[in-house]
Amino acid sequence: MQIITDPAEMQAISENLRLQHQLIGVVMTMGALHEGHLSLVRHAQKKAGIVIMTIFVNPTQFGPAEDFERYPRPFEQDAALARAAGVDYLFAPPPERMYPEGYHTSIDPGPMAGSFEGASRPGHFMGVATVVVKLLNITRAHLAVFGEKDAQQLAVIRRVTGDLNIGTMIEGAPIAREADGLATSSRNIYLSSDDRQRATVLYRAIQYAGQETDRGRHDLKAIAHEAASLVHSVIGSTPDYLCFVDDETFVPAVEAVPGKAYRLVMAVRIGSTRLIDNWRFVCGEHRDA
Ligand code: AMP
Repeated sequence: MQIITDPAEMQAISENLRLQHQLIGVVMTMGALHEGHLSLVRHAQKKAGIVIMTIFVNPTQFGPAEDFERYPRPFEQDAALARAAGVDYLFAPPPERMYPEGYHTSIDPGPMAGSFEGASRPGHFMGVATVVVKLLNITRAHLAVFGEKDAQQLAVIRRVTGDLNIGTMIEGAPIAREADGLATSSRNIYLSSDDRQRATVLYRAIQYAGQETDRGRHDLKAIAHEAASLVHSVIGSTPDYLCFVDDETFVPAVEAVPGKAYRLVMAVRIGSTRLIDNWRFVCGEHRDA
């Protein structure tokens, strides 16, 4: 595995790989690698001959009161995990190489970026859209794999790359979870052991919703309300949001229509840590979750 820190060098390598007719897959991360990230690498390896992983804690997608400074950066450990997973190139630029003096451009992803994560974290999706397009241009990837863990991010990236004719194939990969259902996340390490225990309520809320829709209920707004009460009873506060949305547009859904896909999305603060999770279902289809 080669470690590259210079965008121009990475781009030249990728251009050369393309000339050799190699299929390039990219997995973008902020590091502090865990099973979720590694599952994306395996997904990319099934489809692409060369896999590039990027590690970049992107300052422009963090709000001023967020955890940019304290975000974990165990680079040596990450490099070892990436190497063991068979990553071909690890691209890890310093922020000043990505945003040099005089940098000005950003991409506004439009209305989808203003709700849920976008409402809780103003400017977040503009930062995400911009860095993703930069990393796609640098890595020249044919395929990019993102986790469904960040479902709204995936929807925004599909929209932006489609609207801007980027041409990279965007694929979603399933959420990796711990044995007790908690979605693996670089932020889980912030949780105290009590809070880690409480955090399992996110998955229990998903299971509750699954059980209710399995019973044939279509009243999504009411089910979400009940799931939010379950979360409140465990963590003692209201979720930032907990809601069913149309899976494609992220517009809130009240009543399920047979054959349509929905997603239960949630963000919950436990102590000083903010966790997100989600679950997709198609009304009337037998579920596999
Ligand atoms: P991050 O490093 O948190 O920015 O995540 C980098 C990529 O890994 C994104 O596409 C995430 O959606 C994905 N990811 C993070 N956690 C998980 C998980 N538990 N399961 C699947 N994908 C994940």
